[in-house]
Amino acid sequence: MQDTRSTGRAPAQPVDVLVIGGGNAALCAALTAREAGASVLLLEASPRAWRGGNTQHTRNLRCMHDAPQDVLVDAYPEEEFWQDLLKVTGGQTDEALARLVIRASSSVRTWMRRHGVHFQPSLSGALHTARTNAFFMGGGKALVNAYYRSAEHLGVQVRYDTPVDRLELQDGRFVAACSGEQRFTARSCVLAAGGFESNRDWLREAWGRDERGEYPADNFLIRGTRFNTGTLLRFMLDAGADSIGDPTQAHMVAIDARAPLYDGGICTRIDCVSLGVVLNRDGERFYDEGEDFWPKRYAIWGRLVARQPGQIAWSVIDAKAIGRFMPPVFPGTRAQSLPELARSLGLPEQRVLDTLGAYNAACRASHFDHTRLDDCRTEALAPPKSHWALPIDTPPFTAYALRPGVTFTYLGLRTDDTAAVRFGGRASPNLFVAGEMMAGNVLGRGYTAGVGMSIGTAFGRIAGQRAALAARAEDHRAAA
Ligand SMILES: Cc1cc2nc3c(=O)[nH]c(=O)nc-3n(C[C@H](O)[C@H](O)[C@H](O)COP(=O)(O)OP(=O)(O)OC[C@H]3O[C@@H](n4cnc5c(N)ncnc54)[C@H](O)[C@@H]3O)c2cc1C
Repeated sequence: MQDTRSTGRAPAQPVDVLVIGGGNAALCAALTAREAGASVLLLEASPRAWRGGNTQHTRNLRCMHDAPQDVLVDAYPEEEFWQDLLKVTGGQTDEALARLVIRASSSVRTWMRRHGVHFQPSLSGALHTARTNAFFMGGGKALVNAYYRSAEHLGVQVRYDTPVDRLELQDGRFVAACSGEQRFTARSCVLAAGGFESNRDWLREAWGRDERGEYPADNFLIRGTRFNTGTLLRFMLDAGADSIGDPTQAHMVAIDARAPLYDGGICTRIDCVSLGVVLNRDGERFYDEGEDFWPKRYAIWGRLVARQPGQIAWSVIDAKAIGRFMPPVFPGTRAQSLPELARSLGLPEQRVLDTLGAYNAACRASHFDHTRLDDCRTEALAPPKSHWALPIDTPPFTAYALRPGVTFTYLGLRTDDTAAVRFGGRASPNLFVAGEMMAGNVLGRGYTAGVGMSIGTAFGRIAGQRAALAARAEDHRAAA
């Protein structure tokens, strides 16, 4: 891989395929285009040390299979995968494209292995995924490194520190990409530059002001890369590209409030919500903590916390919960009494005691069992706690502060089974899109673990293949 960063100039010869982005979708596109015989240049906004976008934080991809397959147990047939997608998206999905992704996921691991990706069985603590998800050995960082190594071996050129800020388009045809003063021409192009979750101004605009006059987005943390600013997405929308997905929505989970603003990754999750109660800044509960199993509910808590005053909340547990969940990286705030805990958190002491007193009195403890939807619930309490409701009464008491953590945004570019970008319903002949930038075609809302990588891998490869073909067609066009 030629790193042309040091020259500060665009390559003298235009390449066949230009790939914009440096995560899973971009790498799959670059590798596939190169395998198809095209010369490829990949432009990554980040420096080399931060390459790989949100992909570096991933752990697995969701795979269809009809029988046990190496690291995957039992079967996960096409129909079940499709039904899972249908359920989480509430029907906001394109069935043909979704099935394309699902089918591709059944055989893609052979190709991934050829490019150096290794798999391992599901990790303990990653509930219910041994059947559905193949885990990357070494995580997404190892996958990214393997793909870049393979790209280097195959002769893909890479330029880091090259955020593309605009394209030159002619009647829906790609001509060139520009990064500041630098201009890159190519016969075809793949856009794989992620969502806009790291663009705080855009998040602020999308979320607006709440009834308290607050801008909730100002208190969001970004779970992944700081480089997904959506610059190219905005450019494409302004240029008239067809869009898909709700511009005001993002996938959000409740994460440790002490997480860094960017790149906290998966270790910032707080997994004890269903074992205790969650209080807002006023010392009040605001949602049923025991509605369902945590893996099915963790993605709604980001939004719930976003609606609270100051966009902050505290998950409070007692000694009975310890050992029943994956502990966070940093210890929580601990106290031997509830008044002491309230004071340490800076919460209104009497309100906290009233809330917890009412909750404890409403618990109808029966047979506690955290592995099933048990019958420990509250009675005559609003909001209720439907399962795992045990009184918070055994010291030491622990609290973890929660903030909304944005995983990705849903807005993207509309496409079809050729991965072509569309303008007014017309497919571009040489401009393609892959990954989070088009995932909304398959995943209009909601999420099911591992499907982001399935979409990015399937469409990255389609886009790479199509871009290589389009480059050849452009050559013929120029010669004619
Ligand atoms: C903490 C976390 C954990 C996750 N875990 C999983 C998981 O286990 N399984 C799963 O399926 N999904 C997971 N996801 C979602 C997953 O990250 C995405 O579905 C997938 O990685 C998206 O790949 P991508 O290539 O589209 O985007 P990214 O990997 O984000 O890559 C986008 C790239 O574009 C570059 N870029 C941005 N703007 C520009 C520009 N203007 N010019 C040039 N380059 C630009 C960025 O630097 C980056 O390299 C997770 C996300 C997060 C945040």
